Formats: sequence, structure tokens, C-alpha cells
Amino acid sequence: MTTRVAVLGAGTMGNGIAQVSAVSGMQVCMRDLDQDAVDRGMAAIRKSLDRLLSKDRISSDDHAAALGRIETTTSFDECVKGADLIVEAVPEKMELKVELFQRAAALNADAILATNTSSLSVTEIAAASGRPETCIGLHFFNPVPLMKLLEIVRGLRTSDATVEKARAYAETIGKEPIVVNDWPGFATSRLGIILGCEAIRMVEQGVASPADIDKAMELGYRHPMGPLKLTDLVGLDVRLHIMEHLHAELGEQFRPPALLRQMVRAGKLGRKTGEGFYTYE
Ligand code: NAD
Repeated sequence: MTTRVAVLGAGTMGNGIAQVSAVSGMQVCMRDLDQDAVDRGMAAIRKSLDRLLSKDRISSDDHAAALGRIETTTSFDECVKGADLIVEAVPEKMELKVELFQRAAALNADAILATNTSSLSVTEIAAASGRPETCIGLHFFNPVPLMKLLEIVRGLRTSDATVEKARAYAETIGKEPIVVNDWPGFATSRLGIILGCEAIRMVEQGVASPADIDKAMELGYRHPMGPLKLTDLVGLDVRLHIMEHLHAELGEQFRPPALLRQMVRAGKLGRKTGEGFYTYE
């Protein structure tokens, strides 16, 4: 059973993973590179827990207990020693993840090493650790406290025991797990990206407006959010980056549309820059 979780990275995903683990009764240590980043992560957790409290989705005792279970540090060693699950949520760069898995495996021989990568090869990250049987992908969704899905990604050498421990962790934190084999884009990104890619091609070809394409999927297929609104939310640059990776790995169907490249070059990155397929205040 997982009791101590080390979270590497206190950004968008890292602080969410720390929060859901602490709310579920686990001791958490969250690490980032400097104190400012750690403080921002803690502030995000407090804000999220406050919101849950104001909506009566958590009691004030549980709110206080969860905060009491989270330690923060800038020391890598302090964070990973004694943990039985180590989850990395650092930027999406292979060399960074490989380095963290190597260092973590050297300091802690027993913990499960998990990566929250959304597109990189779990098998490759795991190989760097020298003990790939106990490595796995735990692909969380944003915002972590609200999204039910946890995509468990099984690397080529991940053991059955590790998959079962990951499944048990998912259930403890109240997520619905799916288990997929490591293949570019897993199940979620592969399908999500192809829909986004095709929607952008349809805008390019003048098939319909972004609003009508989104409405088609929201009302016709019951998607909570159309593919172009979702692209604006995720960031056009982020989606382009994933499409380039899937294009190289899986082929032509993922070739990034020229319109997407042009919009990224123009700085139209979606919500974060105030303009993408829609404009924002
Ligand atoms: P982010 O930029 O918000 O946070 C990353 C954090 O990691 C930063 O605070 C950075 O200072 C820190 N960091 C960098 N190097 C570090 C190190 N060596 N040790 C500890 N901390 C370090 O990024 P994010 O959006 O949280 O994404 C993290 C990972 O999660 C990426 O692999 C991303 O692909 C994946 N992911 C993101 C989303 C999303 O919607 N944002 C969804 C699913 C998966």
C-alpha cells in the first residue's frame, strides 16, 4: 500500500498530484527547484482545497489534515528517500525525466517510479532507471483534483505487480484507472490529438466555423468541450509539439496542419495569449 508519495515538480500537475494524495491520507513530499516554485505550488493547493471546502466537498478537519500531510522541499534527496511512490511531473523533456529516474533509483531502491508524461516513451524513461520492472506511467489529467481518469501506462518491462500497485493507488485517490500499453500517445492523447488535428484541417478547408465545429461535437457527440475550444485551453504550441511527436512516431495522419503552425508563429497560442481559435478578455 502506498503511504509516502514523493512528487517531483510543484507546477500545474505536480501540485494537483500532491493534493489528491494528501487528501486520501498519504504523507506527501513535494519538490521543486527553488522556494518560489514550491511556494506557488503550495498556494495552488491551498486555493483548491479552500474551494472544495466552500462547496462542502471536503470537511474543515479533512482540509486541515490534508495540508498537514504535505511537506515541501527543494532537496531532491530529502524528497525521494523513504517514499514508496515517486511521481515526476517536471517539464516534458526526455533528458530531464531520464535524469530524475536515474537519480531517484540510485537513492531509493524500493519505490515505484512513475512518470506523468503525456507523450514520451515510458519504456525509455523506465530503462534509464536500471530497474524498469518497478517503473510505470501515471498520466493524470488537468485539473488533477477534478478529473476522474488516471491512465496507467505499462512500459515494455513493467511488472504485473507494479501495475497492480498503481491500480490500487488510483483507487485510493478516487480515480478511475485504465491500463494501456506504452505506445506513442497512449490511448488518450492519440485519440484526442487526431480529433483536434482534423478539426483544425476543417477550419483550414472552410468546412465550418470553429464555433460550429465545436458545437457539432458538443451537441452531436456529447463532448463536454469541442476540439477547438480544447486546443485553445491546452495551448496551440503544446498541441503542435505533441502532433510533431506523433507524426514522427505514427505517421501522416498526425501531420500538423499548416494553419496550426501559422497560428503558433503568430503567437496565437489560445487562452494563455488571449487569442487562438477564439478571442478571450
Ligand atoms: P509545469 O511547467 O506547470 O510544472 C513543471 C514544474 O517542474 C515547474 O514548477 C518546474 O520548476 C519544475 N521542475 C523542473 N525541473 C525540475 C526538477 N529537476 N525537479 C523538480 N521540479 C522541477 O508543467 P505541468 O503542466 O505540471 O507538466 C508536468 C508534466 O505533466 C509534463 O510531463 C506534462 O507533459 C505532463 N502533463 C501535463 C498536463 C497539463 O495539462 N498541464 C496534463 C497531463 C500531463
